Amino acid sequence: MQFIETLKLKSKLFFLFIITTIALIGMGIIGTIHIDSMKKNIDALYFGSLVPVIELNEIIQTYHNGLASTIYQASRLEISPEQSATQIRKSLNHIIKKWKNYESHFKRDDEMEYVSYTDLEINNINKYFFKVYSIVKEGKDLSNISIRTLEKKVFTIHKVIQKLIKYEVSIANYERKKFLFHYERTKQQLGITLVFILSTLIIISLYVFKSIQSDQTKLEITTNKLKRVNKKLENVSYTDALTNLHNRRYFNMVYDKELKCAQRSNDYITFMMLDIDYFKQYNDTYGHLKGDEALKVVAQTLKHTLKRPSDYIFRLGGEEFGVLLTSTDESNSAKLSRDICDAIRGQKIDHKNSLAHEYVTISIGVVCCIADAALNGNILLSCADKMLYKSKEGGRDRCTITSNVCEASVGFEDDSLIA
Ligand code: GH3
Ligand code: MG
Ligand code: MG
Repeated sequence: MQFIETLKLKSKLFFLFIITTIALIGMGIIGTIHIDSMKKNIDALYFGSLVPVIELNEIIQTYHNGLASTIYQASRLEISPEQSATQIRKSLNHIIKKWKNYESHFKRDDEMEYVSYTDLEINNINKYFFKVYSIVKEGKDLSNISIRTLEKKVFTIHKVIQKLIKYEVSIANYERKKFLFHYERTKQQLGITLVFILSTLIIISLYVFKSIQSDQTKLEITTNKLKRVNKKLENVSYTDALTNLHNRRYFNMVYDKELKCAQRSNDYITFMMLDIDYFKQYNDTYGHLKGDEALKVVAQTLKHTLKRPSDYIFRLGGEEFGVLLTSTDESNSAKLSRDICDAIRGQKIDHKNSLAHEYVTISIGVVCCIADAALNGNILLSCADKMLYKSKEGGRDRCTITSNVCEASVGFEDDSLIA
């Protein structure tokens, strides 16, 4: 049972098909064997020792050997009247018994005519033999008996019974032919029924297999669609709608992973915290919609500046962005952050109320170090945040970078670099 449960639906159906096919073939074989043995039995019934013809033959033999030959011997005084009486009585009893047996078998209507006629003849001749019996019973010998009459009577009854035997044999032949016809027809019907059931089973199985196949294909298509939709949804849930950058959710997922990866390979990790300068004033001056446009331009600029596929850019919230780089040393990280500042300024987005520049600028706090086991995400974040604060303090539109995580997290004194 456990074996069947572990099978898949298709295999289960195939298993069912095989079992049913084997059962049907088995049924066919057993049925054929039974029909064949039935045929043999019926053959034996008609042509073997059970056939009533045997009884009729025995009756004829008894008339010849039991009665005629006894009377003949008695007429020649070869046996005593007592002996012949016993023998005649025994033979007559045997004939009566056999005839009754024969009569008790099933008889067809047309057969009954022959039987009644033979019965009459047997009764007649038996009367004659009873008469002879009564003579010898009285102790008289049969020296005067007419052997000719005896022979005539035995010959007559022989002929009558032979005719009946012939008729019985012809009936047996007829019945056998009829039986053989029925036998062949039954066998054919059984074969046709089995072939029909088997074909139906094959057609049904094929249909079921095909429908399972098409269901499976549909399911696969639906699953793939669902996977694609899920992927889209996942992308949407990890993407910032305004800037199309990765969002804070994605940052939370990726940040720890990349940090651990850098720790495993003892590689550089760089985290930048970026914040647009005087953005509140920008909104106040140009309106929120313009502010949104500026955010989009900043995002695009970041994308153009950071081209490596392994560079991550996030919008962490409001006008704050995060950049995560791996395998980038301090000087390259510093160069990149300067490039970012230049690129944003280079977009020349007017910002007349900024105290830093006539265009929109950005301040960046950068931390870049070899990721060791002691490093954790919080230290990096707070360190970058402090460097950003330094950039703001230093007059904005600049970046401050440090590689000394411990010191940076304690205070601002300072091997940090302001660019
Ligand atoms: P600082 O130079 O010190 O960073 O000054 P700031 O004005 O940029 O900083 P502050 O935190 O005071 O203001 C941030 C502003 O960013 C406030 C808010 O109006 C604006 N802002 C945040 N998110 C969005 C946004 O999605 N769209 C727009 N248009 N403005 C936003
Ligand atoms: Mg801010
Ligand atoms: Mg700001």
